Amino acid sequence: MLAKRFSCGALRASNVGERAELNGWVNRRRDHGGLIFVDLRDRDGITQIVFDPQHPSFKDAGHLRNEDVLRVRGAVRARPSGTENEALSTGAIEVGVDELEVLNRSQVPPFQVNLDGNVDEQLRLEYRYLDLRRPRMQRNIRMRHNIVKAMRDFFDEREFIEIETPMLIKSTPEGARDYLVPSRLYPGTFYALPQSPQLLKQISMISGFGKYMQIARCMRDEDQRADRQPEFTQVDVEMSFITQDDVLETMESCMRYVWKRCLGVELGPFPRLKHEEAIARYGVDKPDLRFGLELQTVNDVFAGTDFVVFKSVIESGGAIVALRYPGGAALSRRDFDALTEDAKAFGAKGMVWIALGADGTKSSAQKFVSDEHVAKLRAQTGSETGDAVLLFADARALALAVAGKMRNIVGERCGLRDPNTYAFCWVLDFPYLEIDEETGKPVPSHHPFTSPGEDQWQYIDTDPQKMRAQHYDMVLNGWELGSGSIRIHKPELQRKIFEMLGMSAQQIEDRFGFFVRALEYGAPPHGGMALGIDRIVMLACQETDLREVIAFPKNQVARDVMMDAPTPVPEALLRELYLRSEAPERPSGQ
Ligand code: ASP
Repeated sequence: MLAKRFSCGALRASNVGERAELNGWVNRRRDHGGLIFVDLRDRDGITQIVFDPQHPSFKDAGHLRNEDVLRVRGAVRARPSGTENEALSTGAIEVGVDELEVLNRSQVPPFQVNLDGNVDEQLRLEYRYLDLRRPRMQRNIRMRHNIVKAMRDFFDEREFIEIETPMLIKSTPEGARDYLVPSRLYPGTFYALPQSPQLLKQISMISGFGKYMQIARCMRDEDQRADRQPEFTQVDVEMSFITQDDVLETMESCMRYVWKRCLGVELGPFPRLKHEEAIARYGVDKPDLRFGLELQTVNDVFAGTDFVVFKSVIESGGAIVALRYPGGAALSRRDFDALTEDAKAFGAKGMVWIALGADGTKSSAQKFVSDEHVAKLRAQTGSETGDAVLLFADARALALAVAGKMRNIVGERCGLRDPNTYAFCWVLDFPYLEIDEETGKPVPSHHPFTSPGEDQWQYIDTDPQKMRAQHYDMVLNGWELGSGSIRIHKPELQRKIFEMLGMSAQQIEDRFGFFVRALEYGAPPHGGMALGIDRIVMLACQETDLREVIAFPKNQVARDVMMDAPTPVPEALLRELYLRSEAPERPSGQ
């Protein structure tokens, strides 16, 4: 009988009696009862194959090691009663091998490939091909495929056109540092790798495409953080003749479609918060709405207090911000000290705690906390006996920011951040400008192509800090998934924004001349958004690290440890590019 080829996840009881060919890797070998059992694995699953001593292949089977690559043929048969494995989709059957071909041998892997156990991440990244064979990574990378496919289908159904934009573009930094590529043909000049297709997608609106989307690769040469990679992928969208609501509806529907199709989860409508409101209620512009614990500004509770810390904050126009800690009365002084240290690490000068125990109230500022204070705090924060109230007093923005970070810690400790819950929301109406942490200068909180609100242009000359932008963020479980905005489509207004940011006419021409010129030829009103696919997949897979959902990521210090990049290149290559390296010797261990 001719053998039919099956995947290692395909055979069922109904195949018993057929002759099958399987190709895959040795997941595990067990020798017992005079038989050799091998779990053969491929991308679809695992099938038990059995070698019995009568067959000539038995001898070779005795030498098989994990990760050897095999082709086998044999009869599909029911497993002996009592030995079925319900955990496997193929657990009712096994294949009695009569032909074995060893297609390739494997070295002993540096870690166990057939288990998801803990392995040092550098080792995993160095042997990424083995790491990717493991069940969890196979699952994550497939989920990524499914999500991206769902996104493409969604936008296709809505008649968006996917347009590829180039990788080699002009350096027009969007807030981060550009990766540069030296030009061989034009000595001393450079292309930049795109930080995003922002200007090109806007230009595609000027070109009349109307609805653009792209699964776009973006590169930013930034200092590395846990939630960043030097290159990342976005679902990038732009639309013409639309309002902000149209963009929000489109992107929200896209996520609803993806979650339903890929996770089987129906999402409700996303709540919308103004930026100001998000900060006042949650202390951050990316609130985790899986839980309540809203912050309360309680200056009025402490009006007239003798407690110098609170008194001086109230007098100087700062804020006292209260956070409820459910069940927090059971914490020890040491626990509260540790929380105070957390708050300090976030920039607070200190923290006052009040424990609302059944046997009375205790506080780190006992002398200054009266029954009346406690009654009012209970009412405002919704705290009950058994809870604690944490208080942060500082300049308003700092007190709220610290309380917002502490809210996440409290939420985590109280088990309120369930990874199975997906709390999406919109944050809208951002200030146009924010202060850059490094330079202390005002910079756009999104990018300079964002339009201020229609009624906000009036402040541009007199009080630009007051301007609000038509800029929106989508947030999931405390993570910013992406940002977007309604764009400026009039060239004179675009110039005005560049001028407000301190650019001279020459600088505008050199960096953005091509773009302002494009706006001069009938640019339609337009707007759009980009969502980070790595983050979306990470949260959908309930992972906490982007590297778990990127097939070939860089490590925490931006190195590819499998290929070993970046590395120096031969002098001759540099010479061709008219470059000379003056870099210090490569630091050891990198
Ligand atoms: N280009 C923006 C970004 O990458 C997204 C947008 O405004 O559409 O964040």
